[in-house]
Amino acid sequence: MDYYHIIRYALKTRNIKVERWVEEDGGGWAYITDRKVIIPRPTSIVGFARCWHEIGHFDLNHTNKKRRYIEEYEAETFAIDKLKHYGVDTKSYTRIAKRYVMHQLQNSFKRGHTIDKVPVEIIKWYGKNFNQYKKKVENLIFAYEKS
Ligand SMILES: [Zn+2]
Repeated sequence: MDYYHIIRYALKTRNIKVERWVEEDGGGWAYITDRKVIIPRPTSIVGFARCWHEIGHFDLNHTNKKRRYIEEYEAETFAIDKLKHYGVDTKSYTRIAKRYVMHQLQNSFKRGHTIDKVPVEIIKWYGKNFNQYKKKVENLIFAYEKS
Protein backbone atom coordinates (compact mmCIF):
# COMPACT_ATOMS: atom_id res chain seq x y z
CA MET A 1 0.00 0.00 0.00
CA ASP A 2 1.24 3.47 -0.87
CA TYR A 3 1.08 5.24 2.50
CA TYR A 4 2.59 8.40 1.05
CA HIS A 5 -0.10 8.66 -1.58
CA ILE A 6 -2.87 8.14 0.96
CA ILE A 7 -1.47 10.74 3.37
CA ARG A 8 -0.78 13.31 0.65
CA TYR A 9 -4.34 12.94 -0.60
CA ALA A 10 -5.77 13.18 2.93
CA LEU A 11 -3.82 16.39 3.54
CA LYS A 12 -4.77 17.89 0.19
CA THR A 13 -8.50 17.30 0.62
CA ARG A 14 -8.34 18.89 4.07
CA ASN A 15 -6.27 21.84 2.89
CA ILE A 16 -3.47 21.03 5.33
CA LYS A 17 0.07 22.01 4.37
CA VAL A 18 3.16 20.09 5.47
CA GLU A 19 5.49 22.42 7.33
CA ARG A 20 8.12 19.71 7.62
CA TRP A 21 8.50 15.95 7.18
CA VAL A 22 10.43 14.32 10.01
CA GLU A 23 11.81 10.85 10.51
CA GLU A 24 9.38 8.19 11.58
CA ASP A 25 10.24 8.30 15.28
CA GLY A 26 10.31 12.09 15.34
CA GLY A 27 7.41 13.90 16.93
CA GLY A 28 4.61 15.31 14.84
CA TRP A 29 2.68 18.47 15.50
CA ALA A 30 -0.62 19.91 14.31
CA TYR A 31 -1.02 23.68 13.95
CA ILE A 32 -4.80 23.71 13.84
CA THR A 33 -5.48 27.38 13.11
CA ASP A 34 -2.66 27.68 10.53
CA ARG A 35 -3.67 24.35 8.95
CA LYS A 36 -0.06 23.24 8.94
CA VAL A 37 1.45 20.03 10.16
CA ILE A 38 4.78 18.44 11.02
CA ILE A 39 4.53 14.74 10.31
CA PRO A 40 6.78 11.72 10.02
CA ARG A 41 7.45 10.15 6.66
CA PRO A 42 4.88 7.36 6.40
CA THR A 43 7.37 4.65 5.53
CA SER A 44 5.95 2.06 7.93
CA ILE A 45 2.79 1.28 9.87
CA VAL A 46 3.97 3.46 12.76
CA GLY A 47 4.75 6.42 10.51
CA PHE A 48 1.42 5.97 8.69
CA ALA A 49 -0.43 5.88 12.02
CA ARG A 50 1.39 8.96 13.31
CA CYS A 51 0.36 10.88 10.19
CA TRP A 52 -3.27 9.94 10.84
CA HIS A 53 -2.87 10.93 14.48
CA GLU A 54 -1.92 14.49 13.45
CA ILE A 55 -4.67 14.63 10.81
CA GLY A 56 -7.05 13.47 13.55
CA HIS A 57 -6.29 16.60 15.57
CA PHE A 58 -7.70 18.63 12.63
CA ASP A 59 -10.74 16.43 11.97
CA LEU A 60 -11.58 16.41 15.68
CA ASN A 61 -10.98 20.17 15.93
CA HIS A 62 -8.58 19.91 18.85
CA THR A 63 -7.86 23.39 20.11
CA ASN A 64 -6.78 22.58 23.67
CA LYS A 65 -10.31 22.87 25.02
CA LYS A 66 -10.06 19.41 26.52
CA ARG A 67 -7.32 17.94 28.66
CA ARG A 68 -4.28 16.96 26.64
CA TYR A 69 -4.58 13.24 27.37
CA ILE A 70 -8.19 13.22 26.16
CA GLU A 71 -7.26 14.91 22.88
CA GLU A 72 -4.33 12.52 22.49
CA TYR A 73 -6.59 9.54 23.20
CA GLU A 74 -9.05 10.76 20.57
CA ALA A 75 -6.27 11.29 18.00
CA GLU A 76 -4.84 7.83 18.71
CA THR A 77 -8.18 6.06 18.35
CA PHE A 78 -8.78 8.08 15.17
CA ALA A 79 -5.44 6.81 13.83
CA ILE A 80 -6.20 3.21 14.83
CA ASP A 81 -9.60 3.40 13.09
CA LYS A 82 -7.80 4.58 9.93
CA LEU A 83 -5.39 1.65 10.12
CA LYS A 84 -8.39 -0.69 10.36
CA HIS A 85 -10.03 1.10 7.45
CA TYR A 86 -6.98 0.42 5.28
CA GLY A 87 -6.71 -3.16 6.49
CA VAL A 88 -3.46 -2.54 8.36
CA ASP A 89 -2.64 -4.63 11.43
CA THR A 90 -3.23 -2.47 14.52
CA LYS A 91 -1.73 -4.65 17.24
CA SER A 92 1.72 -3.13 17.64
CA TYR A 93 0.59 0.46 17.08
CA THR A 94 -2.19 0.08 19.67
CA ARG A 95 0.45 -0.77 22.29
CA ILE A 96 2.43 2.35 21.37
CA ALA A 97 -0.75 4.44 21.50
CA LYS A 98 -1.75 3.11 24.91
CA ARG A 99 1.69 3.86 26.35
CA TYR A 100 1.61 7.36 24.89
CA VAL A 101 -1.87 8.20 26.23
CA MET A 102 -0.89 6.76 29.61
CA HIS A 103 2.13 9.04 29.66
CA GLN A 104 -0.14 12.06 29.01
CA LEU A 105 -2.54 10.82 31.67
CA GLN A 106 0.28 10.59 34.21
CA ASN A 107 1.18 14.21 33.41
CA SER A 108 -2.41 15.15 34.22
CA PHE A 109 -2.26 13.21 37.50
CA LYS A 110 0.86 15.17 38.44
CA ARG A 111 -1.18 18.34 38.05
CA GLY A 112 -3.87 17.04 40.38
CA HIS A 113 -6.19 15.23 37.98
CA THR A 114 -7.73 12.13 39.55
CA ILE A 115 -8.69 8.69 38.28
CA ASP A 116 -12.40 9.20 39.00
CA LYS A 117 -12.40 12.07 36.44
CA VAL A 118 -10.95 9.93 33.65
CA PRO A 119 -13.67 9.21 31.06
CA VAL A 120 -15.00 5.63 31.34
CA GLU A 121 -14.37 5.19 27.61
CA ILE A 122 -10.63 5.56 28.20
CA ILE A 123 -10.58 3.16 31.14
CA LYS A 124 -12.49 0.66 28.98
CA TRP A 125 -9.97 1.13 26.15
CA TYR A 126 -7.23 -0.18 28.44
CA GLY A 127 -9.51 -2.84 29.91
CA LYS A 128 -7.84 -5.18 32.37
CA ASN A 129 -4.42 -3.87 31.27
CA PHE A 130 -4.94 -0.39 32.74
CA ASN A 131 -2.72 -0.95 35.78
CA GLN A 132 -0.14 -2.79 33.74
CA TYR A 133 0.25 0.21 31.41
CA LYS A 134 0.20 2.58 34.38
CA LYS A 135 3.07 0.67 36.05
CA LYS A 136 5.08 0.40 32.87
CA VAL A 137 4.87 4.14 32.19
CA GLU A 138 5.59 5.02 35.83
CA ASN A 139 8.75 2.91 35.65
CA LEU A 140 9.80 4.59 32.41
CA ILE A 141 9.27 8.07 33.90
CA PHE A 142 11.14 7.05 37.03
CA ALA A 143 14.09 5.77 34.97
CA TYR A 144 14.05 8.97 32.91
CA GLU A 145 13.98 11.28 35.94
CA LYS A 146 16.83 9.37 37.55
CA SER A 147 19.05 9.65 34.48
ZN1 LIG B 1 -1.27 14.43 19.29
